[in-house]
Amino acid sequence: MLEVKNLTVAFDDKTVIAAVSLRLQRGNIGCLLGPSGCGKTTLLRTIAGFEQPGTGEVWLNDRMASSPNALLQVEQRGVGMVFQDFALFPHLTAEDNIAFGLQCLPDAARQTRIDEVVQMLAIADFRHKHPHQLSGGQQQRVAIARALAPRPHLLLLDEPFSNMDVELREQIARELRTILKQDGMTAILVTHNQLEAFAMADEIGVIRDGGLLQWDSAFNLYHRPSGPQVADFIGEGVFLDGIAISPTQIKTELGVLTGAAPHGHAPQTQVSVLIRPDDIVHDDNSKQTATVRDKVFRGAEFLYTLTLPNGTRILSLVPSHHDHAIGEDIGIRPQLDHLVLFQSDIAM
Ligand code: ADP
Ligand code: MG
Repeated sequence: MLEVKNLTVAFDDKTVIAAVSLRLQRGNIGCLLGPSGCGKTTLLRTIAGFEQPGTGEVWLNDRMASSPNALLQVEQRGVGMVFQDFALFPHLTAEDNIAFGLQCLPDAARQTRIDEVVQMLAIADFRHKHPHQLSGGQQQRVAIARALAPRPHLLLLDEPFSNMDVELREQIARELRTILKQDGMTAILVTHNQLEAFAMADEIGVIRDGGLLQWDSAFNLYHRPSGPQVADFIGEGVFLDGIAISPTQIKTELGVLTGAAPHGHAPQTQVSVLIRPDDIVHDDNSKQTATVRDKVFRGAEFLYTLTLPNGTRILSLVPSHHDHAIGEDIGIRPQLDHLVLFQSDIAM
């Protein structure tokens, strides 16, 4: 459906997108994830045809849509876009906003499609109201409905949840995923929020300084990060120094950690091992201990910050009925099945 090949975009002499390549299959939802200013909006706008690449190509539906020498017009791309500020027409009702992109349909077909998206996005109660009479969440649903209504080949959403309550975002992202899947839509969502990306996407691209570090499933980003920057950005965790002592074993301050598969580093290589909070199990019977330095209640679990005897900091996710005091020594047991590690000179 979408293929981006070696895309570079610059404004004046400043490179904002650098050599980005990715593919999105029809019916899949992709997500561009990265901190503010890393180039997410620029990449989305380039896919939509608002910006022209300096090098590389954008292909939509087996058709070359953008290159340094050719640019298919925005209206001819079959792309729908939801902008960060929604950009609804203030003088039109919710329903007339939705109807806007359906003018080429005969009356009956247009009304059928309007009713369909009104129902899909639960807009019926306010379909005759104007944008200024709607809450942020309602405006967002109208903006998505308007973009979805003409059945674009590709729907692009730029931080669509950014003015929603933080607690609601994950749930709304999940609901939107269901709606897009029901409608068979291919979509790309831009966000700087990992939980939104995890809730929504089949594939996630981690962007840093205009470069795509990894384009993969959420599971692989978390469990098989391509490098220390992705490991650091996705989820929580710390790096521990280690040294390879056998094809599957690394010696660290936590003891000898054994992976299920060979780690690929020669004996004696200095490495950094990624330790996630779920890799450190609290066990009252373990002889190995660490000191509680901080704890955050997360409902079912506490996230404990612990220090090992020589002061190294690690994190541990512990069922919340184990309520230990700060300063207390508690038993821990590392439980890692596959080791994520990087040679020390490239780790952060
Ligand atoms: P994000 O959406 O990830 O926050 P953007 O794509 O908006 O990032 O911006 C990436 C960088 O490109 C920023 O440094 C921004 O200032 C710059 N930039 C974006 N649009 C333009 C433009 N039209 N002209 C010049 N610089 C731009
Ligand atoms: Mg942006």
